[in-house]
Amino acid sequence: MASKWNCAICSKQIMWSELFTFYSKGAAHFFCFKDVAMQTKKEGVPVDALLNMLESELRMIVSYKKHLSETTNEDLKKVLDENEKDAEKHAALLTKLIDRMALQK
Ligand SMILES: [Zn+2]
Repeated sequence: MASKWNCAICSKQIMWSELFTFYSKGAAHFFCFKDVAMQTKKEGVPVDALLNMLESELRMIVSYKKHLSETTNEDLKKVLDENEKDAEKHAALLTKLIDRMALQK
């Protein structure tokens, strides 16, 4: 299923099943964002580690969303929903840091 966003880097439409994030130029596929960050990274900046952590958080988001759509148990839904929001917050913080440390000139 397609989301309403197009990737700011490759211009293709982002699917809900894909890993994606939001940075200063808009929504982007994780792997497009990763390519740009790896190309522009500066000496001494732990971009690889930050990208790995971001990828883990984004995979958690996809996983939480998948389980949320599959369960009807209200208690479970509540926990999954709260955890998913936390993962989104973590992903946003990591993306912002990578954007600032690797993509900004
Ligand atoms: Zn892309």
